[in-house]
Amino acid sequence: MEQMKLESKVFSILKDKIQLIRSDDRAIYLVGPIQLPVNLYGETVIFQWYCWLNYDEVTEDYEKIIEKLSSSNLAEYQQSSVLVYGDFKEADDALIRMHSICHTGDIFGSKRCDCGFQLKESMKKIKEHGTGALFYLANHEGRGIGLFSKAMAYVLQENGYDTVEANESLGFVNDSRDYSDAIEVLKTLRTKPVTLITNNPKKLEALDNSGTLVSGRTPLWGDVSEYNQKYLQTKVVKSGHMQEERTCDND
Ligand SMILES: [Zn+2]
Repeated sequence: MEQMKLESKVFSILKDKIQLIRSDDRAIYLVGPIQLPVNLYGETVIFQWYCWLNYDEVTEDYEKIIEKLSSSNLAEYQQSSVLVYGDFKEADDALIRMHSICHTGDIFGSKRCDCGFQLKESMKKIKEHGTGALFYLANHEGRGIGLFSKAMAYVLQENGYDTVEANESLGFVNDSRDYSDAIEVLKTLRTKPVTLITNNPKKLEALDNSGTLVSGRTPLWGDVSEYNQKYLQTKVVKSGHMQEERTCDND
């Protein structure tokens, strides 16, 4: 395959915005910060946006990586990203949200779950706190089962199965989400303590086990409705979500 050659001007613009995060035999390439003005409940809030790519080639010759992008079919795969607010590197405390992608909840505003609400609410909390980051984890759809399987699971749920039963009867483990890449990116952007926005003990555990300094947890209320009551109850009863707030964590 003919590989494109990058113009030196293009590379000189991009090179300072790329970082390599090494982990064993693979690499995470992080690009950013990029200014991202966001419409948050009608107000324009300026976030700094970073996106990352998981790659099996580990090199600091970023030119090589950039030259491969146009033939890599990246739109066929998922990439995750993070919205950063305030002085994320230096501020004493920062609010963190690890948000799993939810096509139906985040994009369409589906009320079968509380993800869309939690996404916006986390961004609002981070903004109000003054410093923080929202990690948007693209390979976490349907607790890691993928969008198509999630549609199948929804069909089962329309026939009396709960979230956990539906996933398990399709051959999936209840929750296969992995936070390791996001944690690597977090450690690159900040080494000081973080407060995690979640009701999910597994997320706290993942952060704790990675050696990240977690100074606390902030619960997140969902928008309970007749459409997601059963879904929310299942999270508490079967997935160990912390009950005192009644509602839960995303998908
Ligand atoms: Zn959802």
